[in-house]
Amino acid sequence: MDVSATPLTPRRRTRQISLGSVKVGGDAPISVQSMTTTKTGDVDATLQQIYALAAAGADIVRCTCNDVAAAEGLAQIVPRSPVPIVADIHFHVEMALAALEAGVDGLRLNPGNLRKPEEIKLVASEAKDRGVPIRIGVNAGSLHPDLYARFGGATPEALVESARMELAYFQEVGFDDVKISVKASSVATMIAAYRLASETFDYPLHLGVTEAGPLPGGLLKGTAGIGTLLAEGIGDTLRYSLTADPVEEARAGRTLLEVLGLRERKGLDLIACPSCGRAEVDVIKIATEAQAALGALNLPIQVAVMGCVVNGPGEARHADLGIAAGKKRGHLFIQGQIIRVVPEDEMVEALVEEAKKILEQGVEARLAARDHSAEAEAAADRAALLDDKGDDANRVNAKIERIRRRGD
Ligand code: SF4
Repeated sequence: MDVSATPLTPRRRTRQISLGSVKVGGDAPISVQSMTTTKTGDVDATLQQIYALAAAGADIVRCTCNDVAAAEGLAQIVPRSPVPIVADIHFHVEMALAALEAGVDGLRLNPGNLRKPEEIKLVASEAKDRGVPIRIGVNAGSLHPDLYARFGGATPEALVESARMELAYFQEVGFDDVKISVKASSVATMIAAYRLASETFDYPLHLGVTEAGPLPGGLLKGTAGIGTLLAEGIGDTLRYSLTADPVEEARAGRTLLEVLGLRERKGLDLIACPSCGRAEVDVIKIATEAQAALGALNLPIQVAVMGCVVNGPGEARHADLGIAAGKKRGHLFIQGQIIRVVPEDEMVEALVEEAKKILEQGVEARLAARDHSAEAEAAADRAALLDDKGDDANRVNAKIERIRRRGD
C-alpha cells in the first residue's frame, strides 16, 4: 500500500526530532507509544513488557522514573531495550536528572507538577547538553492551578497556554528539542486543544486521550479523539491510555494507523461479515478461530470470513484470501475468485494452509494452481441456497404480501 496516497487531509508538517533511532515529526512515519506498568526497578519484568510492547507495534516505550530504584533500573533497561525509552517525570527534578544520567532517549515532563522555573531550565539545559528531547506533557487533570483559575477550568486554551509557558522556559536556555501533548479525558476538549496546539506550534504533537479507561469504552474514546485528529492531518506520534494490559495500547495504536492507511500493514487484517439471516455457519465462532490461528502466525495478509456464499466472495473480493460458507462447505477464494471447496469443519485449517502458500508462492501462482471444478461447485451451492432462501433472506417480501392480502 502506498501510504502517501491516503485520502485523508494531508499531514501538517512539523519539525523533526529524534528519540534514539526513531524520528518523530516532519515526514517520519507516525509512531506508536505505550507505557510499562511494571516497577521500573524490576529490570527483568520491565524488559519483558517492553519486548511484548515492541512485538505488538510500539515504536517507543515510556517507563516511570519515580525513585532511585527506577532510575537505576533505567540504566540497565535502556541498553537492552529493542525500542527507545522515555522516562516519565512528575514532581521530582532530581528524577529527571537521574533519568538523563541513566541514558534515556527522551523525557516527559508534566508542567502541572514540575513548576519551579529554575528546575525546569536546569533539566532543559542538561537535556540540551545530552541531545535528549523532552515532551511537554500537559494533562487537563493536573493543570497548574494558576492556569485553571485564569481560564476558568482546564479549557483547550489553558492546556495550550501551559505548553507555551513551558516552551518559554526552555527557550531561555536555548532548548527546542521538543514535542508537545495536550491531553484530556474529555474527547471533545482534547480534540479542540490539539487543533489549537497545531495552529500555535510547529513542534511534533503526541496525541492521546488521557485516562480513557478499560475496554471497550477506552478504546472508543481513544479512537474517537486520536482518529479524528489524524484524519485532519494532526499528530506525529500517539498513545492509547487504556486501563488494560499495555500490549492492548500498542496493538490499538498500530491498528489505528494501519486502518487509516498511515502505516504499512505489519500483521494480519481479519475482516468478517457481521452475519445475518443468510449465514450458513456460526460466523463469530469461525472468525474467532481464524483470528487465533492466523494471528498466531502474524502473517501480513488480509483474510475475510464471510457467512454465506451468496454475497461473501463478491463483498470481500478486495481481500487477499477469504472463505465463505455454503451448504456444509466452505468456498475458499483469492481476490474474489473461488479456488477450492472444502468441508465446513476444515474451513479454518484451509485458510491457514492457503495463507502460508500465498506468502510463499504469491497470489498469481496460487490462482494458477486452483481447482478448476471449484467455481462450478460453488455456483451450484449458490443456486441451491438461493432456491432455499431466495434473494430475500428474511422473507420480507412474503410477509408484505401476506399483510397486503389481509388488507384486501
Ligand atoms: S456475507 Fe452473507 S451471511 Fe454475511 S452478512 Fe453478507 S449476506 Fe449475511
